[in-house]
Amino acid sequence: MQALARAALFLTAGFAATAVVAQNIPAQPVRTVEVKPGIAVLYGVGGNVGVAYGDDGTLLVDDQFAPMVPGLQDAVAELGASPARFVVNTHWHWDHAAGNALFGAAGATILAHESVRDRIAAGGSVMGIVSEPGVPEALPVVTYQQSVTLHLNGDSLDVMYVGGGHTDGDSVVFWREANVAHLGDMFMYEHGWPVIDVESGGNVLTFLAGLDFAIERLNDDTIVIPGHGELASKADVIAFRDMIAAGTHNIAALKEQGLTLEEAVAAKPVEGLSPGNVYVQDDAFVEAVWMSL
Ligand SMILES: [Zn+2]
Repeated sequence: MQALARAALFLTAGFAATAVVAQNIPAQPVRTVEVKPGIAVLYGVGGNVGVAYGDDGTLLVDDQFAPMVPGLQDAVAELGASPARFVVNTHWHWDHAAGNALFGAAGATILAHESVRDRIAAGGSVMGIVSEPGVPEALPVVTYQQSVTLHLNGDSLDVMYVGGGHTDGDSVVFWREANVAHLGDMFMYEHGWPVIDVESGGNVLTFLAGLDFAIERLNDDTIVIPGHGELASKADVIAFRDMIAAGTHNIAALKEQGLTLEEAVAAKPVEGLSPGNVYVQDDAFVEAVWMSL
C-alpha cells in the first residue's frame, strides 16, 4: 500500500518521464490476518487479498500483481491451505488482478464479471500506472453478468456484480455462513475519497447505488474486508457511503448553478468532509464526480 502510494506520488509529482508499468513495481512482504476459521486476508502492495480455504480447496479474492505472487503463494501455504484453485477478480485494476497470469498458469480458474475480462485483455492505465494487455493465462475463464455462487468448504460464496461504480465491472463477495464480505474497491477503509475510475466506466451515482446494494446484504456482525485498509464493519461502510453522498450533493449543487469545473474545484465544495485522503485528494474527487453527473 505504501509502495503504491509512493508510486502514485512519484507520478503526480511529475518526475516520471516514462510511464510506470505495473509489473515493475517492487514487491513488499505479505502480512496475514486470520478473519475466521478458513478465512484470511493478505496485505501486501495493492488490494487486499481474501482467502477462503479448507478441504475443497483455496479461493482467492483478488491477487495483486506479478511480483507479489510468490509472497502470496507462500502466505497461503503458511495458512495450511492448498494452492489457489479459484481466483475471483473484484475488478480489472492492476493492483487487484495482475497476479492472474501467474495464478492462471499455476492452474487456478479465474472468475470475474464479463467486463473485467475485456478490460484485462485490452490493458490500460490506472492513475498513471500502465497494465499491458493481458496474456491468455491472465484472462478470467468463467465470466458472469450478474452473479455466481461457489459452494466450498462448508460455505456458499456469492460473487455479485454490484452494477459498477468504481469501474464498470465491480463485484463483491459474501460468505453466507461465515458472515464475511469482501467489497473490493467499492469500499476503502480509512483511505478518504474513493477512486472513481471514469475511464473504466466508473460513476459516482452507480457507486452509491452499488454501495446500497452491498449494505443491504450486511448486518452488524458482518466482518467487512475492504479493497484497501484494515477490517471494518457495516457501520464503517455506511459512513463511507454517507461521506460520498454528502460530497456528491455539494458538487451537484455547483453544477446546477452553472459553474464550470474549474470554478467548482476552486469553490472547495468537499473541504473537510474526508479526513485522511490517501489516493484521491479533494480536487480529484470533485473532478471525478463532475464527470459522473
Ligand atoms: Zn481499483
